[in-house]
Amino acid sequence: MKLEIRNLIHVILDTVFPIQCLGCKSEGAWLCEKCLRAIPLKEIDHCPQCKQHSAGGAYCEHCRPQSFLEGIAVAADYHNPVVTQAIKTLKYRFMPDVGAQLSRLLVWRVQDLARRAPQSAGHWLGTAGEAPFSFFGSFSNIVVIPVPLHPRRLRWRGFNQATQLARGFAEELQLPCNDIDLRRVHHTKSQAQLHASERKRNLQNSFVWRGGDLAGRKILLIDDVATTGATLQACGQALQAAGAAAIWGLVVAQN
Ligand SMILES: [Zn+2]
Ligand SMILES: [Zn+2]
Repeated sequence: MKLEIRNLIHVILDTVFPIQCLGCKSEGAWLCEKCLRAIPLKEIDHCPQCKQHSAGGAYCEHCRPQSFLEGIAVAADYHNPVVTQAIKTLKYRFMPDVGAQLSRLLVWRVQDLARRAPQSAGHWLGTAGEAPFSFFGSFSNIVVIPVPLHPRRLRWRGFNQATQLARGFAEELQLPCNDIDLRRVHHTKSQAQLHASERKRNLQNSFVWRGGDLAGRKILLIDDVATTGATLQACGQALQAAGAAAIWGLVVAQN
């Protein structure tokens, strides 16, 4: 569907069926302030690989050597019905505005991690065994990057939901956002139908960094949902090859 036609249909639908809060049905926004703030942020975190308890969602010391990322911070619970509805509305009802609202959950999650981070300016990189969220102790040097869609899927949806989240997040925290230089170069099969090992193989070398040197930069890689983390890992591989010093994933929910 052409973008202009889709926008026109949206305008008509919004007139006939005004936007209602996905939580309380009040009119005006997809998530009213009250319902947005009522979404519980995740408090118990797990290693994204083996699921054992880990602070902030960092990879545990056993899984870290096989990972391109330091960890994956998850903002909320996927099984929260408002969160599930919001993500589906963003992706499958083509409502990019929901992304800006959901990005606030990412902001609150990162602010929480920052509060818990050791405040040792200049030592943000950390070494194995140090507090995992030393990354979040200082926001200087962070570049926010959304997980890209393949151009074919981008044309179909009209926007990248991860870009909506990343822009909203970066704007609120006044961080630089680069949403053009990480590219998806293969049209991979939909991950949903694949097993974990197939997901990994399906994605190998499917991302490439076309921007400048990332030496010394910290990367916050943003997506709406993580399942096995295979997509974030594949992006991490490309970013590490470009010199990134440390990479964290940041997602609204993990299913
Ligand atoms: Zn509401
Ligand atoms: Zn682990």
